[in-house]
Amino acid sequence: MTPRKTVVIGAGPVGALAALYAANRGDDVAVYELRSDLRESTTTPLNFTKSINLALSQRGIEAILAAGHPLLLDTVLQETIPMAARMVHYRNALGKVIEDSQQYDVHGRFQRAVDRGLLNRVLLDELAKMDNVKLFFQHKLTGADFRRKKAWFEVQSDRDAVAGRRAQEIEIDFDLVIGADGAHSSTRYHMMKYALMDYQQEYIDCLWCEFSMTPSTTDDYRISPNHLHIWPGGSFMFIALPNLDKSFTCTLFAPVATFTDLEKASDSDLVHFFDKHFPNVTDHIDSASLSAQFRRNPHLPLINIKCSPHHFSDSAVIVGDAANAIVPFYGQGMNAGLESVRILFEALDNHESPAEALAAYTKTRTKDTHAIADLALVNYKEMRSSVTSRFYKLRKYIEET
Ligand code: FAD
Repeated sequence: MTPRKTVVIGAGPVGALAALYAANRGDDVAVYELRSDLRESTTTPLNFTKSINLALSQRGIEAILAAGHPLLLDTVLQETIPMAARMVHYRNALGKVIEDSQQYDVHGRFQRAVDRGLLNRVLLDELAKMDNVKLFFQHKLTGADFRRKKAWFEVQSDRDAVAGRRAQEIEIDFDLVIGADGAHSSTRYHMMKYALMDYQQEYIDCLWCEFSMTPSTTDDYRISPNHLHIWPGGSFMFIALPNLDKSFTCTLFAPVATFTDLEKASDSDLVHFFDKHFPNVTDHIDSASLSAQFRRNPHLPLINIKCSPHHFSDSAVIVGDAANAIVPFYGQGMNAGLESVRILFEALDNHESPAEALAAYTKTRTKDTHAIADLALVNYKEMRSSVTSRFYKLRKYIEET
């Protein structure tokens, strides 16, 4: 039997995992990625100033494990940092700085900080070893006909772009397209013309800006590495996740109006804002660096996307941010995307007909992805204010007595 030609659009973590699952089933797999190969490039994807770290949870770990490459998960986990609890930093009513460690799980399970770029690299390296996988970088999906099963790409190398040479257009055939091309998915856009898709997008009233907390002068972590650190500020918050090089990647999340005020504020007022709301942060990121990072690094929006169905007939399906971009407050965007890949391939394995498999995937996955999107929105309030509530103080008291 001729192997099925599966085309994956997007070589981010979700697309790379989807390609691995498809290759394991014996499909003839081609991955088309807009950007250059991140293993050879110094540019950083997704607008991040440096490769960001993410919280990898059990959901994502199980999806990587089920990919059927026994050493893959070990390779990934070796490069992660366990975060067993969140550390909440705040001032109590008497002005005393409190550091409250709140365990994530009564059974001792934990999240792990992982470098997104590193995870992506490990997955791409694994794909590159497989004979039935071809990776095409600097290929941008520009069109697709999901009835005739044809897709079109613009191909342009950096050298062509610099020389002002026009991109070349190519046409390919496929049996199945898996769209993993992120929140602004081109696959989803073209699929909408075929599937009767309901679509909803919302920019929430929150921007984010990334900061780096460098290692200490003795080359150590400045704060506990086994925590996800949160400085709740009521309507805004600052968080920090550890990196293997002993730095932390930190993020300020705040309403647009707060960002506007801070953009207009002087450097000393900006530092004063941090001192007032995020105790001790300026002990770890010096004032000049804090202001410079705030002014230099982009202030980016957060989008929430829900759509249904997630497939068309037997020819197209979307996964990851392409199907459900969620706000980051539950640390589940990538994890849920990886899980979607596991569930998609379970459906393909359990149904003779690909069309029935894709329909079953949409049926189970749509409600789950909508639920995690709603939970993520609710968790913003939890992180920025409820974490200092009496409930947690009471729970801690019970745990300790
Ligand atoms: P992406 O990572 O967006 O990858 C899509 C790929 O498709 C890209 O490589 C892109 O270049 C390519 N592409 C786009 N258009 C085309 C085209 N036309 N043709 C070909 N290729 C194309 N998630 C977590 O699980 N845990 C966290 O702790 C977490 N923290 C986050 C913090 C922040 C501040 C943000 C913004 C997000 C966070 N997320 C987190 C979410 C996570 O980053 C995303 O869910 C994840 O990156 C989605 O992966 P993806 O592969 O679906 O899409």
